[in-house]
Amino acid sequence: MAPGLERAEAELKRCFGHDGFRGGQRELVEALLSGRDVMGVMPTGGGKSICYQLPAVVLPGTALVISPLISLMKDQVTALRSAGVAAAYINSTLTAEEYAETCERMRGGRYKLVYVAPERLDTAGFVSVTRDSQISLVAVDEAHCISQWGQDFRPSYLRITDFLEKLPQRPPVGAFTATATRAVREDVIRILRLRRPLCVTTGFDRPNLYFDVLRPREKYAMLRELVSRRRDRSGIIYCATRRTVESVCAALCADGFEATRYHAGLEAEERRQNQEDFIYDRRSVMVATNAFGMGIDKSNVGYVIHYNMPKSLEAYYQEAGRAGRDGERADCILLFAPGDVATALRLIALSGQGEGLSAREAQAVRARDRQRLREMADYCQTHGCLRGYILDYFGQEHPERCGNCGNCLADFQEKDVTREAQILLSCVKRIHSHLGYYLGLTAVSDCLRGSKNSRTRELGLDSLSTYGLMRGSRAEAVRELAELLIERGYLERDGEYGVLALTERAGEVLFRGERVLMPVRLERADKGGAPTAKKPAARRRETAEPDGELYEALRMLRFRLSQEHRVPPYVIFSNATLSDMSAKRPRNVRELLEVSGVGEAKAQRYGEDFLKEIENWRKKRNG
Ligand code: ADP
Ligand code: MG
Ligand code: ZN
Repeated sequence: MAPGLERAEAELKRCFGHDGFRGGQRELVEALLSGRDVMGVMPTGGGKSICYQLPAVVLPGTALVISPLISLMKDQVTALRSAGVAAAYINSTLTAEEYAETCERMRGGRYKLVYVAPERLDTAGFVSVTRDSQISLVAVDEAHCISQWGQDFRPSYLRITDFLEKLPQRPPVGAFTATATRAVREDVIRILRLRRPLCVTTGFDRPNLYFDVLRPREKYAMLRELVSRRRDRSGIIYCATRRTVESVCAALCADGFEATRYHAGLEAEERRQNQEDFIYDRRSVMVATNAFGMGIDKSNVGYVIHYNMPKSLEAYYQEAGRAGRDGERADCILLFAPGDVATALRLIALSGQGEGLSAREAQAVRARDRQRLREMADYCQTHGCLRGYILDYFGQEHPERCGNCGNCLADFQEKDVTREAQILLSCVKRIHSHLGYYLGLTAVSDCLRGSKNSRTRELGLDSLSTYGLMRGSRAEAVRELAELLIERGYLERDGEYGVLALTERAGEVLFRGERVLMPVRLERADKGGAPTAKKPAARRRETAEPDGELYEALRMLRFRLSQEHRVPPYVIFSNATLSDMSAKRPRNVRELLEVSGVGEAKAQRYGEDFLKEIENWRKKRNG
């Protein structure tokens, strides 16, 4: 056992209030304590911060945490301070005076952790401060930002490597990310020049998240219903464009919801204000583009709804994963419209220009983006377990059905689509005999639906015998059928453009009478949002059930305290902690410390208020 691990376990409870390590944390903490580099890959909400914060508390000296977003730093430092840990941050929001003061204190060894923006790392002032300090470890949060393969590449992250090499004594370095793809992981290790790092990848499953894909006829009406069923919770609604953010936010406000908005087109001051309103629970709904979220540690987000389909499953899982960090049940719902695919394809076609890429590189990037998009669209159309689909994507084993996603909970009916399948397959076959090569889904669909567009005419597809055989069908229906035929192995996607090609098996349907049955989901109703009936495994030990009324009272108290102390509510206690508290109903500080998520500093700071509230509730109930 690494020296200090025992102390680390004690501090885990004393400072952070946690009763034990979560998956991966112990190994990573132990390695850093013994001076070894680490790479930790855990899903959003998996608990990466503890992996470096705990060694930072135990080891002598000051830990540096490099983090991409200013808002994240401030929140993390606030949370650490409220847990009784000396911490500070250095970024562009500090005045010259504050900066000088923070540096002075850092020189004096006053902090256990200092969060720093990557832009600072090569400034002479900061380098000299680090020379005069004892650096216990360097943690690189959101480490995927260093990779050009990732979605969030930040050139400033490249400065980290130089900075590390120049430190008089190289401390252990820890890199942390939620991005699971291998290319990104390898990039991080290579570019940061980690030395024999201990790599820990925990499972990617988030059992407390419920996943579903809905296909509303009218998106906004559906959204309104989903949000109104979740009025007592905080939620994020992601939209593809700024314009959609504006209109959805305005509509929700007009319908009486406390919504606010966030996108890159707003003034910095408004963005800051809106984000704070959401984090402090003053506004319960955040409508945003994907500019919002990285570095938002708000743990009590009860749902994430995607109003449009994102560009990749990585992006989707990262964004949806912002729900339920506190381990409470939360919903991730995607509102799908087939048009989203076409919109995203158009954006891809326009991208990759003017970014200093050669034509060939740009083409490779676009091909990769199209592939990711296809996998995302397949998620929206699969009949199988949605969680299973995601875990497959990240290369993780899983049971066939999770029992906690829209598809697992829905009823399906089988529809015989053999005739339609024969028509589609023979259309693909005729196109190939006619042209000598295959075409993509759009061309096949246009031909079947009897389109008069110029491409169909120029290629002579209107002369084929299958032309117009599916006139009157929606493009979506043709696509769905094609997806099914791919899934069953009668068709495959081929080449860079993913053209539709026949497989050998297609002959079974075309010539030997094999039947094709399509599962049709009977309803796509909202099955999330149910009251937390069954709790996730984490709280099996509890004896009593949480009391709803007491929980509400504690939540109101938390809100009051948060405005008073000017810290976000979840920094005081998470929803999971309030829920545990309303079950255990402690009578004194000793019992309060038994509640999961209550450490000594917080018990001291807020204990009296919460104990009093519980006492009041008890009197009211008995009297
Ligand atoms: P990440 O950075 O991996 O997305 P965080 O470090 O922000 O996740 O942690 C997410 C949530 O999990 C926080 O609310 C944190 O308090 C909680 N958490 C972390 N470790 C533990 C643990 N060992 N036991 C209970 N809760 C934990
Ligand atoms: Mg984090
Ligand atoms: Zn499932």
